[in-house]
Amino acid sequence: MNVYLLNMPFHEEEYTRFSEKWDLIEDEYLGISIVHSILLNHNCNVKLCTLSHINDILDEIIKLQPDVLMISVMQSSARRSLELITSLRYNHYSGVILIGGWFAKLAWKEIFLHNWPIDYVCYVNAEGVLDEWLENPSSNIFGIATYNNFTKQLLFNEKLLNNEKSWINNYIFPHRKQGRKTYCIETSRGCPHSLCTFCSQSKGNCLSNKWTALPLEIVKKQIIDLHNSYGAVFFATTDDDLAGPLDFAEQRINALSKLIKSLPFKISFTASISVKAATNPKILDMLLDCGLIQLCLGFESADEIQLKRYCKSQSLEDNFVAAREVLKRRIPILPGLITFDPFATINTINKNISFLFNELHHYEIGKLTKKLHILTGTPMERLVRKENLLIGDYLYYEYRFQHKEVNYIYENFKKYTKAIKENYMLSEKKIFSSKEILRIHKTIINKILNQEPWEQDANNLIFLSEELK
Ligand code: SF4
Repeated sequence: MNVYLLNMPFHEEEYTRFSEKWDLIEDEYLGISIVHSILLNHNCNVKLCTLSHINDILDEIIKLQPDVLMISVMQSSARRSLELITSLRYNHYSGVILIGGWFAKLAWKEIFLHNWPIDYVCYVNAEGVLDEWLENPSSNIFGIATYNNFTKQLLFNEKLLNNEKSWINNYIFPHRKQGRKTYCIETSRGCPHSLCTFCSQSKGNCLSNKWTALPLEIVKKQIIDLHNSYGAVFFATTDDDLAGPLDFAEQRINALSKLIKSLPFKISFTASISVKAATNPKILDMLLDCGLIQLCLGFESADEIQLKRYCKSQSLEDNFVAAREVLKRRIPILPGLITFDPFATINTINKNISFLFNELHHYEIGKLTKKLHILTGTPMERLVRKENLLIGDYLYYEYRFQHKEVNYIYENFKKYTKAIKENYMLSEKKIFSSKEILRIHKTIINKILNQEPWEQDANNLIFLSEELK
């Protein structure tokens, strides 16, 4: 069977925003590499797409006429995916089309309700269902829906999700390529909280076992294989929460730390843990001791009501304690802080900016305009719809801010960010982590927050600043 495997490129704007987060991590999509492995195990002839322009992809598929086109779709690539598929059918591509990826997991029924010209949607982990499908695509497989059975599958969805943990029994090593600077590894899958209203994991609240740890021998094998095959020593753990449920978090990190320190070579790695876990000094020390070089922490807000609206598991106090503990150890962090959501106020924006600058000492300019993205199928979509603030469509929802002044601040933060970025491009110098930068940011941002003219001052400050020249 000839399969064309496509990780649909994001919309360019979305991609830029997303990649700002990752200074140290090269993009790598394990999901597509896992599917690649499964296909090779079934002796499929796989063509992995390496193109990024939609017209080139279209031409290549039409030329190759694969038996099956498999597309991994994210929320930010949903519209482009639909455009591609529609054009393919218009150009008489008649092969089978199977959709997977996060958009399929969260919004698979929308794909059928909006009549996408596709054949299958795989909305669970591929490890549990793809083998069976490759053996017999026309059999009824829960987790791979068709136009004939999707309404039935909707009824059984919850039960199905409860059985999903079986992925671990079918664990498969992702298909890798040579020459990467970094390699992603999994040590667990899922999030023990799984309740944040904006997150793709929010569907996890149907699951009885939301976070599953990979056995340590598999974790070790991943690292050793990647080291032996490609000389890899720098890893990005893709876990939603490396430490897992709090009751066992210290134990799990201790075990992972021992494993890493027992390797015959040194590694360094990036990771995400929960804010609550980061309030535990022992966990942070163990991580640092075994090679942690960057920590991603989802603070998300420095305002109590906003934090509750996001349904985060930690308290406001936890956010401040974790920030202090991490800073004390000088651990480089990627803070998650969603300042703008449809219900943000001047007060919540002030609190978040103050937390970013004064508690986290983080001056990365992209953080100023961090805005909540509404994923189709999440509780946040329902909440914003109820308040009549939702605009756009299921392929990508936008929203209005409830408070007019928030819109003004958001737009002006965007302008200021753009000005700084353009200057950065010209100067080719780092523009954060310095007192001078903080002074400039604070001056301008206060002006914007007070809705005062700021452009002239920014111009003077940015262009007169020695460090920015
Ligand atoms: S804790 Fe993180 S991964 Fe878990 S649901 Fe919340 S945002 Fe998602």
